[in-house]
Amino acid sequence: MQIAPWREHVGSGGAVYVAPDPEPEGARIWFFTRKGGVSRPPFDSLNVSTLVGDDPEAVAENRARIRTAMDENDSAWVRQVAGDGVRSVTGPGLAGEGDALLTDRGGFSLVVAVADCVPVALVGSEAGTVGMVHSGWRGTLLGISEAAVEEEVGGPDQSCARVYIGPCIRGCCYEVSEELAGRFAERFGSGVVSGRMLSLPDAIRANLEETGRVEVHDLGLCTGCRPDLFYSHRKQKPKTGRNLAAIALEADAGAGR
Ligand SMILES: [Zn+2]
Repeated sequence: MQIAPWREHVGSGGAVYVAPDPEPEGARIWFFTRKGGVSRPPFDSLNVSTLVGDDPEAVAENRARIRTAMDENDSAWVRQVAGDGVRSVTGPGLAGEGDALLTDRGGFSLVVAVADCVPVALVGSEAGTVGMVHSGWRGTLLGISEAAVEEEVGGPDQSCARVYIGPCIRGCCYEVSEELAGRFAERFGSGVVSGRMLSLPDAIRANLEETGRVEVHDLGLCTGCRPDLFYSHRKQKPKTGRNLAAIALEADAGAGR
């Protein structure tokens, strides 16, 4: 497993995030941690979900801090359904159901909420487009990151996309049924499972490297192993928060260049 370097940052407003180091040219990536917010245990402290039982006022404050950390960017999001729907958007707001967002516009962020599922940030060739994918086991089996890359990289003259695999549950912590492990081994190769332990990031990497035009950077962070930094549905259920993962094209990049 190759691990890409990352760094922890404290955003203005206090929200703590990790980002690839170096960051990609022309785009910003924020994998927010659970640190720097106001939610009380077991949601401490930067939870972004109102659907898990947290105090809505705390969540609103956390979202405001995150917005500040993202240079006051508004966000575009989807109603995540663990499928393979890819939505292309031109501005902030709810973009319907789906599990991946793409844009060629700057000035706002694409966001997904996760607690173990894999946030996959995409930067298209020459940073003309960006994308953010929510890839749980269903989406990974369906090849959602590949679908997003295909749509993003576009025509035959386009070369390479860079993909950043963010904090997620990894092979050290993710035990699945024998049947599901078998399906992954069959689809992505025996290297993505060890017994019943499944590595979603390795499956995503195998899937994307099949395309031959993606450079995969895996930050190597496990939500199960790092409760100090991330929420883990598996390890902390029934009650825990959700981490936000975000990407934005720099405002002067993208469409019209
Ligand atoms: Zn782990």
